[in-house]
Amino acid sequence: MLNYQEGFERRLKGMPVSPGIAMGVLRVEARGCPSPPIRTILPTELESEWARFESALACTEEELQSLRARVEHLSGAQEAAIFDAHLLFLRDRTILARLRKEMPARLQNIDAVYYAVVQNFMEVMRHVDDPYLRSRVADIEDVLHRVLKNMTSAHREPLCGDCTEPCVLAAYDLAPSDTADLDPRKVLGFVTEAGSAVSHTAILARSLGMPAVVGVPHLVIDSRVGSQAILDGYNGLLILNPTAETLQHYRELQAEKERAYKALIEMKDLPAVTTDGRRIRLAANVEFAHEYGAIKRAGAEGVGLYRTEFFLLGCGSLPDEEAQYRHYRDLVESCAPEEVIFRTLDSGGDKLPFEVLEEKEDNPFLGWRGIRVSLSRVEIFKEQLRAILRASAHGKVGVMFPMVSGITEVKDVHALLAECRAELRERGLSYDEHMRVGIMIEVPSAAMMADVLARHVDFFSLGTNDLTQYTIAVDRVNFRVANMFRPTHPGVVRLMHHTIAAGIPTAVCGEMGGDINLVPLLVGLGVAELSVGAHLLPLVRYAIRHLNYEECRQMAELALQAEDSYTIRNYSSELARKSYPDLFN
Ligand code: PEP
Ligand code: MG
Repeated sequence: MLNYQEGFERRLKGMPVSPGIAMGVLRVEARGCPSPPIRTILPTELESEWARFESALACTEEELQSLRARVEHLSGAQEAAIFDAHLLFLRDRTILARLRKEMPARLQNIDAVYYAVVQNFMEVMRHVDDPYLRSRVADIEDVLHRVLKNMTSAHREPLCGDCTEPCVLAAYDLAPSDTADLDPRKVLGFVTEAGSAVSHTAILARSLGMPAVVGVPHLVIDSRVGSQAILDGYNGLLILNPTAETLQHYRELQAEKERAYKALIEMKDLPAVTTDGRRIRLAANVEFAHEYGAIKRAGAEGVGLYRTEFFLLGCGSLPDEEAQYRHYRDLVESCAPEEVIFRTLDSGGDKLPFEVLEEKEDNPFLGWRGIRVSLSRVEIFKEQLRAILRASAHGKVGVMFPMVSGITEVKDVHALLAECRAELRERGLSYDEHMRVGIMIEVPSAAMMADVLARHVDFFSLGTNDLTQYTIAVDRVNFRVANMFRPTHPGVVRLMHHTIAAGIPTAVCGEMGGDINLVPLLVGLGVAELSVGAHLLPLVRYAIRHLNYEECRQMAELALQAEDSYTIRNYSSELARKSYPDLFN
């Protein structure tokens, strides 16, 4: 672990997931953190810290009592006795006395001191001879985490909502719902210990245009609230207490990047066409209504993926058909004459759950997610389908379905669409008879069955984030296996090839499409469309306009014979660097 030295510039390295540079004061957030960040307090704050601790103890006590009662009812008194031990530890006199002594001596926030005191206690317990006492360490840890959780869960308001000056946010991890709530005027960028490039948290950072770095080891423990910080979202760096030279360097870099981006934006009306005339549709991925302006400015040819879950689940209660219709219609009208493809609700996985489930899912990515949720809540699903159909009367609209695994789901959604059309006709409401219907190809079984599925839908959209996750069996949000998450794995690339070979228009809407190293591979495999985050559009357009399709096709043929992900990535990246070297400066 790195030692913190006041006043010295320090660089912490992580993985860049959203480009840009943020400079401001550091704010450290404890939510989801296994060890609380340390904050220095004033002697006058001691009393309020104790009050906070007391209320967390009371809350934990209530939780433990109700757990105890539940277990006693279900399994009997003997099993419930475990919670008596928890309750005893909660008010353990030795711990509380130690805490009373340490607080004025350390003058730190009480959660950090409590954490340190209990850690010490557990360390002693781990070394006692008595095996029974040793086995109690797990119970103590359980109580510790409950108390810590109850000390931080009181503030569920948006993170940094109370910041008076723009900050760089450091956290152990951020849930997509926390990220969606960040106010870009207050949070200039964020950095986390956990996370990965294709988590929805990272995807949201890119759509908010917010620089972000993930996977910084020991971040929370090594950071100090209030330090000056620079977040480098290009190179994955958090720089604490930067020197005057470093600050100057980053100011210049920021200005230079802004100039280069402006020059790319100026080409926004040029078509995405290769040097030998192959036209690729270049559309945008959208998560929030406030992005409509940005996608226009970036010259998107419509929307290739509208992730409706952020709108549907972000409003507290689910909007009804009418509210959805108005929301979808606004987007369709603002993109006309270009097409908008609405993806129906994709809840579950790492995103907001559709309903709070009684039983936590052990494997949420393999569980109640995507189309499975919609097909088990038919009336709600039909409201969304009718709203999308009605929006199709106002411009060009497509609809697609997430996490389809085979033909049965496709037949089910067609049947529901037919019912919805009939209902709208009965109500005298119009819709486009020719609205395109497609599916996401993000489950390997769907990719394998692409030739069959192609007979039932108008288009495919390759969701390479999930296709990679499910093909290699590597959790897209687990930073411990983040190095294994390789969309150029030959298994993934062959499934993509098989999907495209089915012969219907196929897009890529996963994050792979926005990686300028991999654009040559996708073009060479024959994709008809790329749909990427708005800020990446100008780069991808420039890349396509400097590629030769025939060269890409030959390279992709070689890639399909390759044995490993590195070879495929290198083939594509070499061609990228040769074709548009200036994008790599
Ligand atoms: C994907 O899986 O590639 C995709 C685009 O969908 P999401 O990232 O929303 O799961
Ligand atoms: Mg997906």
